[in-house]
Amino acid sequence: MNEVNKMQEIYLDNSASTPLAPEVLAAILPYYAEFYGNPSSLHKKGIEAERAIKESRQIIADILHVKNTEVFFTSGATEADNLAVKGAARALKKRGKHIITQKTEHEAVLESCKALEKEGFDVTYLDTDEFGNIDKKSLLSAVREDTILVAIMHVNNELGTIHPVGEFAKAVKAKNPETLFFSDGVQSFGKMNLDIKNIDMYTLSAHKIHGPKGIGALLVREGINIEPLVHGGGQEQGFRSGTENVPGIAGLGKAAQISYENIGENSAHIKELREEFIWTLREIKDVQINSPENGLPNILNLSFKEIPSEILLHALEEKGIYASSGSACAMGKQNISHVLEAIKIDYDWAVSALRFGFSRYNTVEEINFTCKALKELVPALRAVTGRK
Ligand code: PLP
Repeated sequence: MNEVNKMQEIYLDNSASTPLAPEVLAAILPYYAEFYGNPSSLHKKGIEAERAIKESRQIIADILHVKNTEVFFTSGATEADNLAVKGAARALKKRGKHIITQKTEHEAVLESCKALEKEGFDVTYLDTDEFGNIDKKSLLSAVREDTILVAIMHVNNELGTIHPVGEFAKAVKAKNPETLFFSDGVQSFGKMNLDIKNIDMYTLSAHKIHGPKGIGALLVREGINIEPLVHGGGQEQGFRSGTENVPGIAGLGKAAQISYENIGENSAHIKELREEFIWTLREIKDVQINSPENGLPNILNLSFKEIPSEILLHALEEKGIYASSGSACAMGKQNISHVLEAIKIDYDWAVSALRFGFSRYNTVEEINFTCKALKELVPALRAVTGRK
């Protein structure tokens, strides 16, 4: 298929959520229709459901190179981030009350930190450079004797900035071996090969990797104690009570498995899409690339000067093209995202920022169609806003 039909949907908002992979849908359905038992039940129906959980846990553990007893399922990454940050801080508060994070973290981490400040914790929010990178020296100089936790995401969801979290964790532990290192891996898991050797806790979410919504996981290394947020029947070794979302867990396992079966090929394809996009856009005047060149290819943040992002977003939508302004998790906020604010881009560029998120299902034809649309729309909209 070389030609893209005008009314076809071109979904380029894959950092917000992804379409379910057909294999994942097939893996989920039996757990609604046939294997509906409660995994805690002792009879056959329970055992069938429990088997799905066991298999998915093993898949995730193998990808992360950890033990299956170190993987805990949650209702998504927001809960997993909350559990990691608040759970670890509350469990360790007798040892210290200092936490380090950075300004471009996802709200799930930042708001957890703010909640902890109200409980008397002291949080250092590190600055970043203009591409969202953190300076290792600044990180290390912030580590104190009472630092119990460092929370730095693996890949930033708005810019694609890759933080060398393995290296950071090693350096932090060399300065204070007692400090736990947590990383939000929502935008990295399933999209790149992972080396998380020195990392104590790591989160992931199924719906960013062509899995279902409402299911995620938290890695917690053996021996680390965290306080649960949800109390009840003691599922997930007591870290997260509540009857498990069996279809979701089955879907997460399948989505993770197929993401890593072809990770090299998928990454190369997505890199090619990004390069094609950037190459074609050079023909449009006054476009700024806000993402770092060495970021995750899946995420491309661009500003089209003088065109408010909402306007371009909806103009693209009329052509069947879906992108994102700011972060989708911020629920369509009009104001500048906290990430763009943290990297201190000029206001004019910040209000005109759009994020394109590519997936393995996107094609070069879709990218060409999108760029053609942008070449038409950008000058036309600038003419309306008073620019050429
Ligand atoms: N962390 C990051 C980096 C994200 O991008 C997102 C979602 O956008 C989340 C956490 C929240 O994940 P979930 O939608 O599974 O709660």
